[in-house]
Amino acid sequence: MIERSTPPAASTPRGTAPALPATADLPTTELVQAGERVLEWIAAYLDHPERYPVLAQIEPGFLKQALPASAPETGEPLDRILDDFERWIVPATTHWNHPGFMGYFGISGSIPGILGELLTAALNVNAMLWRTSPAGTELEEVALGWLRELIGLPPAFAGAIQDTASTSTLTALAAAREAVPGLDVRVKGLAGRPDIGPLVLYASAEAHSSVDRAAIVLGIGTEGVSKVATDDAFRMNPDDLAQRIAADRARGRTPFAVVATVGTTSTTSIDPVPAIADISAREQLWLHVDAAYGGAAAILPEMRHVLAGCDRADSLVVNPHKWIFIPIDCSALYCRRPDVLTGATSLVPEYLRTAEAGQARNLMDWGHPLGRRFRALKLWMVLRAYGRQGIMARIREHLRLAQVAAGLVDEATDLERLAPVEFSTICFRVRPADLASRAEEEPVRNYLNTLNQAALEAVNRTGEVFLSHTGLGGRTAIRLSIGNLRTEERHVRRAIALAREMGARVDQAERPAALR
Ligand code: PLP
Repeated sequence: MIERSTPPAASTPRGTAPALPATADLPTTELVQAGERVLEWIAAYLDHPERYPVLAQIEPGFLKQALPASAPETGEPLDRILDDFERWIVPATTHWNHPGFMGYFGISGSIPGILGELLTAALNVNAMLWRTSPAGTELEEVALGWLRELIGLPPAFAGAIQDTASTSTLTALAAAREAVPGLDVRVKGLAGRPDIGPLVLYASAEAHSSVDRAAIVLGIGTEGVSKVATDDAFRMNPDDLAQRIAADRARGRTPFAVVATVGTTSTTSIDPVPAIADISAREQLWLHVDAAYGGAAAILPEMRHVLAGCDRADSLVVNPHKWIFIPIDCSALYCRRPDVLTGATSLVPEYLRTAEAGQARNLMDWGHPLGRRFRALKLWMVLRAYGRQGIMARIREHLRLAQVAAGLVDEATDLERLAPVEFSTICFRVRPADLASRAEEEPVRNYLNTLNQAALEAVNRTGEVFLSHTGLGGRTAIRLSIGNLRTEERHVRRAIALAREMGARVDQAERPAALR
C-alpha cells in the first residue's frame, strides 16, 4: 500500500487551505480528492459536450473584469479554485471539444490524450537531453517511427516533435537555408552579404501564413516569399513555379526552398508534389511539405495517394494535434537530412555536454528551443489506445461526414460549393437562388460577401455550431471542417441547416433594394 502525505490535522479548518510548511507542495490527499472532482468533471464534460455553447458567449474583457487584478496573498483551497474554474473559466471558453466545433480544423482532446497530458505534467521532465529524459527522448523516436509508418513515409525520415506546424516549418526552412552551399548563415548571418543575392522561397498563394512568418523570422522577409499561382482547384501550378525560379535566378536572387502543401488551410487542396519534387530536385532546392492537416488522412490506404511524391521531400510536417486526436500541442517534423537540420540550430554550451552525446539523440538539437515537453507520451498513448484500425475508422467517418455536408450543399438551391472536397473540410457560401446567374457581377459579389459574413456571425451566435470563413478569389466562403471525435451526422446537418436559415434571414433583412 502506498502511503499518502496528509496535511497536519490541526491545520485544516473547514473551507480554508491546510497550513502547510511554506516550502512544501500540497498533500497528495488533496491531489486525490481534487483529482476525483477533476476527472468527474472531465467525464461529464465529454459525456455532455453540448451543455455549453460552442462559441464563448461573452464580450472581450469579461474574464479580466471578473478576476482579481492580483494573485492571492495566501493559498486557497483547490475546491474553491475548481468552483471558479466552472463559474468563470468554462463560460469564457470556446469549446473546441464540442461536437459542433467545425471551424478552422476541428480537433479532439481524446481520453488517452488527456491522460497522457496528465502524466506528462506529473513527470514534468524537460526532455532537452537524453540524460534529462531518456523516456522522453526514446519514446519520441518510437512514436514518431510508428506514425511515419502509418502515413507511409520511408524510414529515411527522422522525426522530432515540435509544438506547432509553425515551428516545424520554421525549423525546416532554417535547415533549408543552411543547406545552401557557401551561405553559412549560421556563422556569417545574412546582413551585409554582397556575396549572395536575396534568398527566395516558393509557396503557393494558398500556403499557410506560417510560411511567411518563418521567412520573417529567418531574415528572408516577406519579399523573399514568391507566391506561386494556383489552378482553379487551388493547387500550385508547377509551370509557374519553374518560371519564377528561372526569373529569380536571372535577376541574381538565390532560390533555396519550395513549400508544397497537402491540405491547404482554406480549401484543403493538394499541391502536385510529384511535379514539384521534380523541379526542386532539378533546381537543387529544399522541398518542405506542409501536411499539417492532410497528412493524417494518409493513414487510410484509400487516401495514401495524398502524400504521393512526399517520399522525395527533404522535410514534412504533420500535426497529430490536428486530426490524430492528440490534445494540442503536438506537431511531427520529419526530415530526410537530419544532419543538416540539427546543424542549422544546434549549439551545445559546456553545461549541456553529456557523455551520451553520439550514442543517443538530444532533443535540444532538433530545433531552436532548449526545453522540451514530454509530448511523445500522449502520442504513444493515443496510437496504442485506438490502434491503426481505430484511427482509420475515425478519420474515415470524418471523410464520410464531409461528403454528407457536400451533398447537402450541392442539393440546396440557396447554397454554392466553392471548392472540391479533398478531406473533411468543405467551403461554400449562401447564394440566394435568384442571384445565382448574377453572382459574379461586382455589386452582387460584394453583397454576397456581406451576406455570408453576417450569416456566419448569426450561425455562430446560436452557440450550437461554430464555423469559420475564408476568402476564395474575392468570394467570402464559409468553412465547415470535421475533426472532432464527437461530431455526428446530426451536427453536420444542423450546421448546414443553420447556414441556410441565417442566410435567408439576413438576406430578407439586408438585401439592398437595387438587388431585389
Ligand atoms: N499549415 C497548415 C496547412 C495549417 O492549416 C495550419 C493551421 O491551421 C498551420 C500550418 C499552422 O499550424 P500550427 O497552429 O500548428 O502552427
